[in-house]
Amino acid sequence: MSRIVVIGGVAAGMSAASQAKRRQPEADVVVLERGPYVSYGACGMPYNIEDPARTMDDLVVLTPADVRERGIDLRLRHRASGVDSKRRVVAAQDLEGGATVELDYDALVLATGAAPVQPPIPGLGQPGVFVLRELTDGQALKQHLAEAQPARAVIVGAGYIGMEMAEALRGRGLAVTVVERIDQVTPGFDPAIAALVADALGRHGVSVETGVTVQAVEKVEGDGLAVRTDRGSIPTDLVLVAVGVRPRVELARSAGVALGETGAIAVDDGMRTNVPAVFAAGDCAEAWHIVSGRPAWIPLGTTANKQGKVAGANAAGGTECFAGIAGTAGFKVFDLEVARTGLTSTEAAGLGIDVVTAISRQRSRAHGYPGANPITTTLAAERGTGRLIGAQMAGVGVVAKRIDVFATALAAGFTVEALEALDLSYAPPFAPVFDPVLIAATVARKRLEAAAREDAAAAGRVGR
Ligand SMILES: Cc1cc2nc3c(=O)[nH]c(=O)nc-3n(C[C@H](O)[C@H](O)[C@H](O)COP(=O)(O)OP(=O)(O)OC[C@H]3O[C@@H](n4cnc5c(N)ncnc54)[C@H](O)[C@@H]3O)c2cc1C
Repeated sequence: MSRIVVIGGVAAGMSAASQAKRRQPEADVVVLERGPYVSYGACGMPYNIEDPARTMDDLVVLTPADVRERGIDLRLRHRASGVDSKRRVVAAQDLEGGATVELDYDALVLATGAAPVQPPIPGLGQPGVFVLRELTDGQALKQHLAEAQPARAVIVGAGYIGMEMAEALRGRGLAVTVVERIDQVTPGFDPAIAALVADALGRHGVSVETGVTVQAVEKVEGDGLAVRTDRGSIPTDLVLVAVGVRPRVELARSAGVALGETGAIAVDDGMRTNVPAVFAAGDCAEAWHIVSGRPAWIPLGTTANKQGKVAGANAAGGTECFAGIAGTAGFKVFDLEVARTGLTSTEAAGLGIDVVTAISRQRSRAHGYPGANPITTTLAAERGTGRLIGAQMAGVGVVAKRIDVFATALAAGFTVEALEALDLSYAPPFAPVFDPVLIAATVARKRLEAAAREDAAAAGRVGR
């Protein structure tokens, strides 16, 4: 009987294990998970934390019993401590019993995920300072909210988790300050979109300080804390550090698995690494970016689940392929929906793609229909060819699902002209006659035409 060992039991790991077992029911599929949970929806943590009536266990998709019922040998609280890829053996330490066992494997899937970045700021290790990555992090934070009843919070980092948590903590009645090192919120979003996010935060009573560097978290009199920055000190009761994640690749590296240019594990489209019989999937691995045509590392649950399925199928002898990513992602902050897909103009320029950027505004619903609100779209298109490169949207209305039209267009290699010609649905409760997606394409086409005229005029001047 063959043995498939999966390291990590959340999105990528459980998808891989389930798929491998489905493909090869007779195989011994073993999952090693360091933590006490498997298969939970980390993405739901901010909403769960906001609601004191809900338990964090609501986020568990499969209990250990469900997993074992599928015939998977789940070893919770087991940390894979070493991989000998020549002998095809994994060492696993039982974190409760203390013993280390060796498991030989025919195929190994690395699904070790990502770890929160802990910047070298003094004072991060003290009580009242949190990160939010694993279910146990969410439980600790939620328990602190219930027991310590903090009145103030500082969130360090204005990425999407910082934004979702700003809403959650305001919802729990805290006074919230967000501090961000760069000079806009939501790094990775165009300034026009970031400005709308900052506005939504302000409208809902969140104080935002951008262009600020945190120097230390200090203990002050009583139970209080203070976040010392280069612009002064912010008194608080709770600090959430949400400055991003890094791929967990130490085990892979020690096993001779090559990392890619992004620092995550390099894989082919079948999720194979450079080491025979070793696959990788999820936040620890790279993915092929369909727009840039290069490897990218954009850690998301969508990608982790899909890559996990492919890795599990192929570990069980399959020949599946992962189609790549466009970096499609969305989040909500209070009443504002925000989403992106593809490359921003800045990212495109960094890759040598010459783009025009079009910014448009259109109502979410038909004129006169209640609840029609403006949606802002920024769209990047390649100068010369008109190929769609990326889009971002923000507004009070359906944004996160509208971005999927752009994501589909990116996968199909559409030009903005092809996008403009799409037959999208219209009825007053859902959209205006010209949907924000179509208006964005029209504005981009006009920008491209203007750019072409400028290029022709410049060529004429040179020719004279
Ligand atoms: C608050 C929050 C909100 C999010 N919202 C969204 C969203 O809206 N949309 C979206 O697409 N994504 C979202 N994400 C991201 C998404 O949760 C991750 O991309 C996804 O969990 C990645 O899954 P993974 O299995 O690759 O890694 P992980 O979830 O990190 O799981 C890896 C597992 O491997 C285990 N492990 C690591 N090393 C070892 C070892 N040596 N031995 C044994 N076990 C080990 C870890 O304990 C961990 O449980 C969110 C994340 C957070 C934290």
